[in-house]
Amino acid sequence: MNHRAEIQEWFRANFKANFSGEVLFDEPLLRHTYYRIGGPAAVLATPKSLRDVAWLRAAITATSSPVFVLGAGSNVLVSDAGFSGLVIRSTKMNTELTERNSRSVRAGAGLSISALLRRAMHEGWSGFEFLCGIPGTVGGAIAMNAGTQLGEVKDHVLRVETVPLLEASKPGGTPIAFEGADLRFEYRRNLFLPAGQMIWAAEWRITPKAPGEVKLAVESALARRKTTQPLEFPSCGSVFKNPGAGTSAWQVINQLGLRGHRVGNAQFSVKHSNFIVNLGGATAADVKALISLAQSRAKAELGIALECEVHCIGD
Ligand SMILES: Cc1cc2nc3c(=O)[nH]c(=O)nc-3n(C[C@H](O)[C@H](O)[C@H](O)COP(=O)(O)OP(=O)(O)OC[C@H]3O[C@@H](n4cnc5c(N)ncnc54)[C@H](O)[C@@H]3O)c2cc1C
Repeated sequence: MNHRAEIQEWFRANFKANFSGEVLFDEPLLRHTYYRIGGPAAVLATPKSLRDVAWLRAAITATSSPVFVLGAGSNVLVSDAGFSGLVIRSTKMNTELTERNSRSVRAGAGLSISALLRRAMHEGWSGFEFLCGIPGTVGGAIAMNAGTQLGEVKDHVLRVETVPLLEASKPGGTPIAFEGADLRFEYRRNLFLPAGQMIWAAEWRITPKAPGEVKLAVESALARRKTTQPLEFPSCGSVFKNPGAGTSAWQVINQLGLRGHRVGNAQFSVKHSNFIVNLGGATAADVKALISLAQSRAKAELGIALECEVHCIGD
């Protein structure tokens, strides 16, 4: 029996009726990624509670399965062969959103950024405007230190709670909290999340304002993005991190003459050249070919190292 079949066998044999989430076998990940690209996961589990997560922890320990935490899939490129392990989809796991006091709110990792912004507009919570137009979940935004011109996660998050997925990383499965100097981030990545830990919830700094004022700020930020981004095609947003020294990755792609360049059905967008768009039926191999082409030419012709912002996973 191969590893994929072994993991599936364990899940079939040990499935607990009190697992309140969903478990799918050989589920195509293209159904769960913004690129609409990606082969099957051996097991895709969508937990709904901490008890569900505890059962998944037991599964990982018993099967030694590779594991990947997927948020809304707005920043991942899954290979065409898929993932021969357990993918834990966090979107239904913890979607709480509560005001702790007039200066902070607590949000679950599975909550969508759009739901968070809707509530912020309703309540008059200023502080989340920087997330306007970023798809995905609260957990994904923290993992990525997501941001826009208006700021990044690191400027607004006060405390992050994680739960262990590997028994070895925290025996007993008790949550860990990070705050203050322990919450370390860099441009589009976090430096604090230990291996085998999944983000569960976070507390955010807010400033109370009139709901109408927050609504105006959110709506104008969203409108600005609609005019500059190719939102009519599936994509994962910016593919490369800006290389620094005042240069944007889109300028590098333009300089290389790659704007609009296609491999198969993947294309460097004409509207925003740091986006690779799926014109319909693109494969991960198509996207990776474009990524490699830009990276090798940027290095050879401009001496610039282009680093991927999109996370590539899979076999
Ligand atoms: C049209 C478009 C525009 C975009 N614009 C921006 C932008 O302006 N700024 C920006 O920063 N990004 C942008 N992005 C990228 C993306 O939306 C963000 O990176 C987002 O924060 C990813 O969230 P997600 O839930 O989709 O995470 P996923 O894409 O599912 O995962 C991303 C990473 O986070 C990890 N992760 C997710 N959830 C958890 C969790 N609970 N615990 C631990 N790890 C976790 C995953 O393992 C993975 O490594 C854009 C994407 C699109 C499609």
